[in-house]
Amino acid sequence: MRTRFAPSPNGALHLGHAYAAMQAHDLARQLDGAFLLRIEDIDGVRSRPELVEAILADLRWLGLEWDGEVLFQSSRLAAYDAALAGLKARGLIYPCFCTRSQIAAAGAQPGPEGLVYPGTCRALSDGERADRMANEPHAWRLDVAQAQTHTGALVWHDMAAGEQAAKPELFGDVVLARKDAPASYHLAVTLDDAHQQISHVVRGRDLFLATHIHRLLQALLGLPVPLYRHHRLLAGADGRKLAKSEGAAALAGLRAQGVDGPSLLENLRKGLLPSGISWAEPSYSMP
Ligand code: GLU
Repeated sequence: MRTRFAPSPNGALHLGHAYAAMQAHDLARQLDGAFLLRIEDIDGVRSRPELVEAILADLRWLGLEWDGEVLFQSSRLAAYDAALAGLKARGLIYPCFCTRSQIAAAGAQPGPEGLVYPGTCRALSDGERADRMANEPHAWRLDVAQAQTHTGALVWHDMAAGEQAAKPELFGDVVLARKDAPASYHLAVTLDDAHQQISHVVRGRDLFLATHIHRLLQALLGLPVPLYRHHRLLAGADGRKLAKSEGAAALAGLRAQGVDGPSLLENLRKGLLPSGISWAEPSYSMP
């Protein structure tokens, strides 16, 4: 039995991260399992290596001990490439040359993570693809409808919400490799949870719907299917989910003020939130 905490080093950890890490840690300890740490550092634009030490220091201050070596996604690029090559060989991904503004101009509708791609580049001929790939930056998108013909109907299980019929089509053809990053969040997280043999994926409800995509990728890539637990999110004074930019809830700031980390965590465990912090109602949570 294994859980993980998987922060992205693109901002300092805040109270919401402390809550997420505690949830994953406590489930592992309750079930006599291991609690692993993974640093999701493949976003070349936003990732800041200098924040990694700060993340580890925050977790130690909270009294959260992880098991084994820390896994860095930046060490896993060959695995992402191999998975993409396999999907490419099966005709399940296609290059996409669209910019954000072109996607918006094509009348794309909002989905769980921005606009749902209207499929423009899915229709390109092989010749057009080859020509444009030689000259233009491109992402790689999953042909979700085509993928579903291979996998058939899928389900996954949330420990609180129960069995879910996978609905990856909510997202449209998601990006698996970005123009500026070797793998998207969806591809990297799915491969890494399998690589680290995570049996219980514990994370925030903001990622509840993303599990529909992850379940499809598991089926396509022949990966085991973990159980999921999507926990509540913390909100700031404005009622919105805490963001990395909100300094008030930053763990480093609380530590500098002399707050005791383990006591803070114990309060979060009991559901006692510091003043100015409340439970968020995410716009995409339980279906
Ligand atoms: N790296 C993601 C984040 O910081 C979490 C990924 C996950 O738990 O699946 O939001």
